[in-house]
Amino acid sequence: MPATTRVTVWNEYRHEKENEQVGAIYPDGIQAAIASSFEGLGEFTVRTAALDEPECGLSDDVLDATDVLFWWGHRAHGEVPDQIAQKVKLRVLQGMGLIVLHSAHLSKPFRGLMGTTCQLKWREADDREILWVSRPGHPILAGIDDHFILDQVEMYGEHFDIPEPDETILISSFTGGEVFRSGCTWRRGAGKVFYFRPGHETFPIYFDPTIRNILVNAARWAAPTGTMAIACPRKDKGWLDQS
Ligand code: ZN
Repeated sequence: MPATTRVTVWNEYRHEKENEQVGAIYPDGIQAAIASSFEGLGEFTVRTAALDEPECGLSDDVLDATDVLFWWGHRAHGEVPDQIAQKVKLRVLQGMGLIVLHSAHLSKPFRGLMGTTCQLKWREADDREILWVSRPGHPILAGIDDHFILDQVEMYGEHFDIPEPDETILISSFTGGEVFRSGCTWRRGAGKVFYFRPGHETFPIYFDPTIRNILVNAARWAAPTGTMAIACPRKDKGWLDQS
């Protein structure tokens, strides 16, 4: 195992360059804000990658050097080539951790791993969100007690079309009365997947200390504990009959 957990933060990186409001909040991109959550933590090495880089910033060399991949996307899910999405999915099955953020619920790698539409209800207004801890003591929620509040968010509501999570660790309620499973985990093959709802681009969510704490905890949780080869080996003899 490497001495550090190698994190790659992938971002579509379009809104920040095209929308003044978003650019003012995230002048270096959402990926830089997320990456800065790990500053000063020697247990991690962090790089960023973006859609408009060659191979979407996700060459084999980059993926070979990635233990945990963060994914933020919104308007350009369709521009991620199928072969890149498939490559990410296979890496997860082999053990890479995947943290799926906010509107990446419709990203190709997440939908591919879930096998459902991953659609949900939404409203871009001025909701207040209370995120309730439904799994006290879960490592992703280390340092968080009972609940926390985000004052200004985009609403996401049920029904969220996902397979039943292995763990639902956060449940949100919104000003409008809707509820949402905001923190969900799954195992896929040897890999761990965490979906985390907060993160709309017009709000400075990724500078919130509680959110940043969860991102770091999530990387610790999702780091591979072993890898698995994708193979279907033929065995002509049984394990007890090797002569
Ligand atoms: Zn959004």
